[in-house]
Amino acid sequence: MKAIQVSRTGGPEVLETVEVERPATAAKQALVRLEAVGVNFIDVYHRTGLYKLQLPFVPGSEGAGVVEAVGEGVTRLRVGDRVAYAMVPGAYAEYAAVPEEKLVVLPAGIDAKTAAAAMLQGMTAHYLAVSTFPLRDGQTALVHAAAGGVGALLVQVAKQRGARVFGTASTRHLGIARDAGADAVIDYTTTDFEDEVMRATDGRGVDVVYDSVGKTTFDKSLAVLARRGMLVLFGQSSGPVSPLDPARLAKNSLFFTRPSLAAYSATYDELNWRAGKVFDWIASGRLRVRVDRELPLRDAAAAHRALEARQTTGKVLLIP
Ligand code: NDP
Repeated sequence: MKAIQVSRTGGPEVLETVEVERPATAAKQALVRLEAVGVNFIDVYHRTGLYKLQLPFVPGSEGAGVVEAVGEGVTRLRVGDRVAYAMVPGAYAEYAAVPEEKLVVLPAGIDAKTAAAAMLQGMTAHYLAVSTFPLRDGQTALVHAAAGGVGALLVQVAKQRGARVFGTASTRHLGIARDAGADAVIDYTTTDFEDEVMRATDGRGVDVVYDSVGKTTFDKSLAVLARRGMLVLFGQSSGPVSPLDPARLAKNSLFFTRPSLAAYSATYDELNWRAGKVFDWIASGRLRVRVDRELPLRDAAAAHRALEARQTTGKVLLIP
């Protein structure tokens, strides 16, 4: 089968198309013929070596397709089932062997492209607004990168839960953040989002900041929190943040967490529940998933370049 392989870490050019053996289907695994593969920022971190993987490796961790074979001991799945998954290595390929407990069956009406676009970012938006800081009616939230893949979904989920939502984005992405439903959109590349949020909340600040940008936003994200507010740092698109001195939380008795989807979908039941909610919302029109672009698998390098150049707003898919 064709796959993308990284044999040395580096720039997008290290993503090479190679011919490799189809993965064997071990016990409790299903072999999935991939119809759509989701590209995520974490794939860039793996490629550059910021997050270490053993070389060589096939990048990518999200996909959707059809079960082609099942290994011994598989009980929930059958050949022909339409499935999707996230957070299983080796997705930039025509086939992937995936543990049964990581696969969810797609409901009718959710196609493979939508599923590959929604699994990782949709479940992330869900756990952030429903579980990490369960937003309630009338609370205020600041969502950074509100036009990004997770950001635009998170704004929609936060609005569904009745929150007042501020969204930041760079100048050319402001319209998308607004379309996602943010009550106020702030261009954090030209204005001071701390000033804007403080002014709009009469100096109170927000109950929660969902920060995936990291380095360039972190300090002000702490500064715009209301008393006993929570900073949810879940990414680092602009670079990692410096170590945090807990004393900085004291002034307003703040909470700080650095969550990951893995810990919020650790069991099959939780994964299936979360993915099911996301698919329900999509099917009922309550959650709009935006696919920014679809590229053939062999163009994985172009997909990474677009992501790193801040050109994408929504999901990038690779089609094997
Ligand atoms: P996207 O690429 O869709 O969105 C990232 C956005 O960040 C960009 O669109 C850009 O929007 C903004 N941004 C700000 N500064 C930079 C910069 N220096 N370089 C690039 N982009 C920048 O990514 P995702 O929404 O998929 O993921 C966002 C972050 O969240 C990533 O760090 C990812 O690893 C993390 N993540 C964490 C998860 C978790 O469970 N902890 C799960 C999923 C994702 P603009 O130009 O408008 O500022």
